[in-house]
Amino acid sequence: MKTVDVLIVGAGITGITAASILARKENKTVLIVEKRDHIGGNCYDSYNEDGILIHLYGPHIFHTQHKEVWEYLSQFTDWLAYVHHVKAFVDNKHITFPININTLEALFEKPFSKQSMREYLKNESIYIPEIKNAEDMVISRMGKPIYEKFFKNYTKKQWGLDARALAPEITARIPIRLDRNDRFFTDPYQGIPEKGYTALFNTMLNHENIQVITGKGYNDVKKTIQFDKMIYTGPVDEFFGYKYGYLPYRGINFYFKTYDQKKRLPVAVVNYPNDHAYTRATEFKHMTFQQHEKTCLCYEFPEDSENGKAEPVPSYPVLNDKSLKRYQLYLKETKNHKNIIFMGRLGKFEYLNMDMCVKKVLACFCTSS
Ligand code: UDP
Repeated sequence: MKTVDVLIVGAGITGITAASILARKENKTVLIVEKRDHIGGNCYDSYNEDGILIHLYGPHIFHTQHKEVWEYLSQFTDWLAYVHHVKAFVDNKHITFPININTLEALFEKPFSKQSMREYLKNESIYIPEIKNAEDMVISRMGKPIYEKFFKNYTKKQWGLDARALAPEITARIPIRLDRNDRFFTDPYQGIPEKGYTALFNTMLNHENIQVITGKGYNDVKKTIQFDKMIYTGPVDEFFGYKYGYLPYRGINFYFKTYDQKKRLPVAVVNYPNDHAYTRATEFKHMTFQQHEKTCLCYEFPEDSENGKAEPVPSYPVLNDKSLKRYQLYLKETKNHKNIIFMGRLGKFEYLNMDMCVKKVLACFCTSS
């Protein structure tokens, strides 16, 4: 029997940040178990066979408005000053996304100003007294033509569900701008870890109090480890043996292709709402600034990941009335486990960005933040 102060299940950004804080700040001994054969969760990056740095689980751009989050991670890495830009491939054109003045000009092939964009939105948006779903969220802010060209089919492909069957917060993530600012994120802090996410995480885990075991899940180790506290970042429904039924997760199948050319896409990420089986394509060299004769693109094909299936790994909790109700049953159950903290996208069944994972860990273990 091995004894540690804290057992952490899952070596994603939540588990790794918790390990780093507990080991350094609280001087706790920590063991992280990770069922995949690598650390980093879905932020994991590595060099492909051609020596191009790729994100194995799709594009991860770090961005935050929270200074304490940025400062915490900045102890362990410098940052590449990458500013994220996205285009949507609509009407056979690469069009600025999220929607701004440039988007309307490209779409309607005529000039727009802030004033005329405001008028366009006023005319097209539909008043909905109570926003009940992801479709309402878009048409009440942007109107039907934009919804249909940019959101309707993308959302269907991404989630396998009609936008009307999804919670409003899913499309509320996408802003609308009455200017020509085409930064995808407006957060004051954004970038890519200078040597990549895996390198950043290895530095965070490099502490005498931290031990990491990969290739083993919680069920493989639970009989052999004694701990005072556990931080569980795996799927909450799995922890409870799916006793209230499966929570729906969406996973992504990633298809990577290396091209014999230096650059291929106009920006790092192109979304394909309508005429392609994949949702988006990412060209990593735009983000990593890597100099290389070839380039590698990643195409994303979403697929359901429920029922504890190994592939694709669960990435997105599918949020709607039914799944949130079911989650409440699990949440209630977690309260009976006083020495276990459930955290992260899967542990809390929450659509969390990377920075919010770090922020929640800081809030939990650093009383001053
Ligand atoms: N979305 C869309 N069209 C796009 C981009 C996003 O309809 O071109 C919708 C879609 O429902 C998606 C959500 O907005 O799931 C959030 O998009 P985001 O790019 O934030 O998703 P993530 O990067 O987390 O996959």
